Amino acid sequence: MSTFQDFLIKIGIKENANILMHSSYLKIRSAFYEISIEEIINSIKKIITSNGSLIMPTFTYCFKRLDGSNEVFNREKSKSKTGAITEVFRKYPDVTRTSSPTHSFAFWGKIKNIFDENNSPNSPLGKESVLEWFVNQENSYVLMLGVDFTSFTIGHYLEIQAPVPWSDFSPWDYLGVRKIGISTEGEIKLIEVPGCAKSFITFEKYLLEQNIIKSNFIKSMNYYFLNVKSIIDVGIKYFKENAETLLCPQGSCLACDSRRNKYLC
Ligand SMILES: [Zn+2]
Repeated sequence: MSTFQDFLIKIGIKENANILMHSSYLKIRSAFYEISIEEIINSIKKIITSNGSLIMPTFTYCFKRLDGSNEVFNREKSKSKTGAITEVFRKYPDVTRTSSPTHSFAFWGKIKNIFDENNSPNSPLGKESVLEWFVNQENSYVLMLGVDFTSFTIGHYLEIQAPVPWSDFSPWDYLGVRKIGISTEGEIKLIEVPGCAKSFITFEKYLLEQNIIKSNFIKSMNYYFLNVKSIIDVGIKYFKENAETLLCPQGSCLACDSRRNKYLC
C-alpha cells in the first residue's frame, strides 16, 4: 500500500463514500514525493470502490461573449481549467464528463447510475446539477488537497440556496459575458452565472473559528476532509446572514464590486 493511500485511510476515507475533490498536484507532490496523478486517482478509487463516487470539477467557463471572443466548449477536447489532476481524470475511459459548457464535472463510480454525459442544467451549480445530488447524499465528503476555500465549489451552491442577494446576477458584464453557455452542441441559457470565489475564504475562517472544521497539514500540504452534512446547514445560514463578507474588499475586484454596487449601496 502506498503512503498516499495510508494517508487517505487515516483521514477517514472509506468504502462507499462520495468524494468531491479539489486539489493542487504541486502541493500533493511536495508532500508525497514523485507521486503520479494516476497513483493519486487510483488510490482513491481503490478505497471508495465503485459503490462510492469520485467527482471532480472540470470547469471551462465557456460563456458566450458579446464580441464573440468566447471559447466554444467541446466535451471531449476542452481542457479543464480546474487543475492538472482533473484534466487527467476526465480522460480516463471509465470516467464520464458532463456537457455543461461552463461548469462540467467528471465522475466515476456510483454516480454514473444517476447522471450521464448529457447533464447540462440551466443552473450549472444548482438545481439538477451534479452538485445538488452530491450534497443531498448521506455519504458525501469534500476532499481538498493543497487548496483553500477559493476552490470551494459548494460555496456557489450555497449562494443559490441561501440565497445571497446577487445569486442570479452575473458579475462579469465588464468582460462582455452573457448569461449563456456555448458549446459545440449549441447554446444554453443560464439562470445563475457563478461569480468570484476569492472571498469564500471568509467562510473558511468562520468554520475554523467556530471549530466546525480543523486546519490540517501533512508536511507542507494543507488539506481538509469535510463531511458535507456538517457544513451545508451552517453554510446556508452563514451565506444568508453574512453575504457581504463573501465579496472581495471594495475596489479590489470588478466582479465583486458590480454585485456590491447593485445590491449593497
Ligand atoms: Zn472578487
